[in-house]
Amino acid sequence: MLEDINEKCAVVGIHGNNEASKLAYFSLHALQHRGQEAAGISSSNGKKLQTIKKRGLVMRVFDEKKLETLRGFSAIGHTRYSTAGDDSILDAQPVFARYDLGEMAIVHNGNLTNAEEVRNKLIANGAIFQTFMDTENLIHLIAKSEQKKLVDRIIDAVQRIEGAFSLVFLSRTKMFAMRDRFGFRPLSLGKLSNGGYIVASETCAFDLVGAEFIRDVEPGELLIFEKDKKPQSIKVFEPTPKHCIFEYVYFARPDSKIFGQSVYQTRKNMGKELAHVKPVEADVVIPVPDGGVPSAIGYSQESGIPYEMGIMRNHYIGRTFIEPTQEMRDLKVKMKLSPMIDIIRGKRVIVIDDSIVRGTTSKRIVKMLKEAGAKEVHMRVSSPPTTDPCYYGVDTPDKSKLIAANMTQDAICKYIEADSLAYLDKSALLRSVNSKEDNYCTACFTGEYIV
Ligand code: AMP
Repeated sequence: MLEDINEKCAVVGIHGNNEASKLAYFSLHALQHRGQEAAGISSSNGKKLQTIKKRGLVMRVFDEKKLETLRGFSAIGHTRYSTAGDDSILDAQPVFARYDLGEMAIVHNGNLTNAEEVRNKLIANGAIFQTFMDTENLIHLIAKSEQKKLVDRIIDAVQRIEGAFSLVFLSRTKMFAMRDRFGFRPLSLGKLSNGGYIVASETCAFDLVGAEFIRDVEPGELLIFEKDKKPQSIKVFEPTPKHCIFEYVYFARPDSKIFGQSVYQTRKNMGKELAHVKPVEADVVIPVPDGGVPSAIGYSQESGIPYEMGIMRNHYIGRTFIEPTQEMRDLKVKMKLSPMIDIIRGKRVIVIDDSIVRGTTSKRIVKMLKEAGAKEVHMRVSSPPTTDPCYYGVDTPDKSKLIAANMTQDAICKYIEADSLAYLDKSALLRSVNSKEDNYCTACFTGEYIV
């Protein structure tokens, strides 16, 4: 049960600004793509914490009146990704608790790999849990720590957990931001133009609220935010960067800069590499929107084959992954994407997507393009075959459902009924992100897990 419950989400923290909860709210809008199941904000006015969280999109969870009740100079927020199984409101964040030092709230993006072990130990010692979230472990570890100050308790707690975490903690007077030693999930620091600081999963939140990017929170670093002070930095762990490459492939928004680089530019590089290493003669390059757009532009620019918008996306449907049953997923793909017949009819089409997970989307798209009159359909994927599940916070299904773990590329090509299929290989992917291999976690493509 426990390993089903991951937290693949967005976090934000604002400190030192009297509009903190509103700025957190706007930031969550910019981060909505990282999770649509639930949203929440906790704020502090120095005396007490207030929390509002609910299932649904940010827009549905908050309104002006609710935000008015979230007063104070500091606020943390969260959007939660959908998971198969448990969608109780208890599993929404921030997680709030009262303990001997007062009140605290926590938001978490990532997934702890020793969560069950830690939890079992805590339960054996009498702890009571309300949710299946890894994050609740932290509340207990902090509450039970023998250290006197909260900062030392946080350090104590994070030393007992393993895996991927970008965390923001709120106490009545301070805010803390912490990133695991591998820096799996992104977390950036910015300065607000009208006072105070912001940390957020992606810099697209900074652009929306008019914050200036300062730098990434370092892997293994703890930042402490106190009123009228510059953030103080503590190196809790020696950094050993292993950034999640799938953030570049799929998860992050193209207008963000994560791990030091533009997501858009990186995706375009992937398309250029793909055109270079997996060329095919065709009349038109089209993306599977929205994920395939930047790489299709890159592919077109590199190959000289014209780029067209060959598939329309209905933006009001949500992500196809959200529904847990296969039947519902098929229906959602149909509702979401429709062909531009005039662009496709009679053409040899290259269609680009960022990834193939179960194969549902690609199969449906090839069928749709053929039905719209495409003469040939060549599927190009701007990442390597997804062969292994992620334990660090990206919602990939288990191996039995990953098409590339169970079929050869030829078999997948036949299954999706494409005229050809090609993926970007790992070395071309690493070239696209301008990185030395050892800076990135590529476990979803290789099965080589770091922790
Ligand atoms: P599938 O239909 O299962 O092969 O899923 C592939 C589609 O899902 C692609 O269009 C991707 O853009 C998208 N995708 C890949 N990874 C994820 C993820 N972790 N969550 C939601 N969608 C994803």
